[in-house]
Amino acid sequence: MTSNMYVELTAPNEVRYTQPRGLFINNEFVASESGATISSIDPATEEEIATVYAAGEADVDKAVRVAHKALKEPSWKHLSASDRGALMWKLADLMEQNRELFATIDAWDNGKTYQEALENDLVEAVGVIRYYAGWADKISGQTISTTYQKFAYTIRQPIGVVAQIIPWNYPLSMATWKLGPALACGNTVVLKSAEQTPLSILVLGDLVKKAGFPPGVVNFLNGMGAVAGTALVSHPLVDKVAFTGSTATASTIMRLAAKTLKNISLETGGKSPLVVFGDAEMEQAVKWSHLGIMSNQGQICTATSRIIVQQDVYDEFLTKFLETTKTTSKVGDQWSKDTYQGPLVSKVQYQRVLDYVRIGKEEGAQMVSGGEPVPIGNGGKGFFVAPTIFTDVTPSMKIWKEEIFGPVVVIAKFTNEEEAIALANDTTYGLGAAVFTTNLEKAHRVAAEIEAGMVWVNSSQDCDPRVPFGGVKQSGIGRELGEAGLDAYSQIKAVHVNMGNRL
Ligand code: NAD
Repeated sequence: MTSNMYVELTAPNEVRYTQPRGLFINNEFVASESGATISSIDPATEEEIATVYAAGEADVDKAVRVAHKALKEPSWKHLSASDRGALMWKLADLMEQNRELFATIDAWDNGKTYQEALENDLVEAVGVIRYYAGWADKISGQTISTTYQKFAYTIRQPIGVVAQIIPWNYPLSMATWKLGPALACGNTVVLKSAEQTPLSILVLGDLVKKAGFPPGVVNFLNGMGAVAGTALVSHPLVDKVAFTGSTATASTIMRLAAKTLKNISLETGGKSPLVVFGDAEMEQAVKWSHLGIMSNQGQICTATSRIIVQQDVYDEFLTKFLETTKTTSKVGDQWSKDTYQGPLVSKVQYQRVLDYVRIGKEEGAQMVSGGEPVPIGNGGKGFFVAPTIFTDVTPSMKIWKEEIFGPVVVIAKFTNEEEAIALANDTTYGLGAAVFTTNLEKAHRVAAEIEAGMVWVNSSQDCDPRVPFGGVKQSGIGRELGEAGLDAYSQIKAVHVNMGNRL
């Protein structure tokens, strides 16, 4: 450990802390072999927060090798499942003790509001680790009756070295969604965070060590996707790749993983529909529709970004939705208590969102609110975009089809249930969906018909660690969270036992 591996920082909310800068390999922070770094930027001010070391191929190799070694060490391999759970529980406790710090770092690095990070992300992150800590000693196989002379049983074993690659929209909590089930099942991990948000994962590294995890079990890398990500996915000692990010990157990852037939699970993009039927409770439909697309700056994979409203209540919905957006979606920096929407994560994301706004206008959709940058930061700096609402959107338009990943919603009308389902399913994605109705029969019928991994009835985005999460179609392969999340990180071995050949 050298002082070069840490930097003293004071966040805009006056929180002072020590930020690790190294790659977290074998329970130590180390510099990258080449000395390469990446820089983290405050998206509200466009100023640099810190530089951290960025992994190249040699660093990835080092991390994978220590994870491979740790897999076979008695300190991890022979640790009882209950003790493994206890370690995870300890990590969750340490995270909880540092919740203000983590919320500060993610708000600063990502642009999400401090309040959202504290009350949403941190609660979820701690909850997910605790949930899977509870699973660690409840993972079991079966005994299977066969013939008089034979019995068979199955054991659930870890897959091995797991490479995990996460996006920037929930830096800490995305890491916990992946670490929780992987550790509960006894794997070792090399996790790469997104280059836009490299900071909180390193502080988590400090806590992993403090909690008492043996060296090599958990390794955290920062680095560019095309360099560190590619090296990780291609490494021959990696047994499984778990990825969250865009559909385009997922497709590249599948191709790379195919070379050594790695087990994969993918959580990718979405263009999730939210259907409001004429009999919906209007105040609720408006409240959740707003939260479903405008919270976290719309940078949510399950954001309900296509709102489909029954004709007879369309005008009422639109008036109320516009009013709620105007009164609730206050754009501001991450730290003010009354800010609902902070800056987008990066300049690239900001320009991408503004490009889609321009395309929507060119395509002939009606922009009824927002659409412009909001010059809030010092000297007009910061990646702020006003919450944007398009109506008269048709399924042939790009803004209907493509994931924008920002505070931009498209709204269309339907006349009957059949048309609503057809519009909802008119997408290559299939991640989330929401249905608003007071008719129970209709709610369940439509929930069954919508092609999505998750359907919310009369709400949007309220995920729960106990409930499986994942997509169909081009939104992913496999499930995270819930008991189903364990399937992604364990494999079944069948043992056939011959009881004798005497008969
Ligand atoms: P991205 O695909 O560009 O990057 C995600 C991660 O992949 C980053 O860590 C990046 O460094 C890495 N990466 C990039 N190229 C790589 C390569 N060739 N090999 C290996 N790794 C590589 O996505 P993004 O822009 O950071 O995130 C936004 C996307 O993530 C959106 O499409 C969103 O819907 C999706 N997302 C999905 C979920 C989900 O659970 N389904 C959750 C959050 C975000």
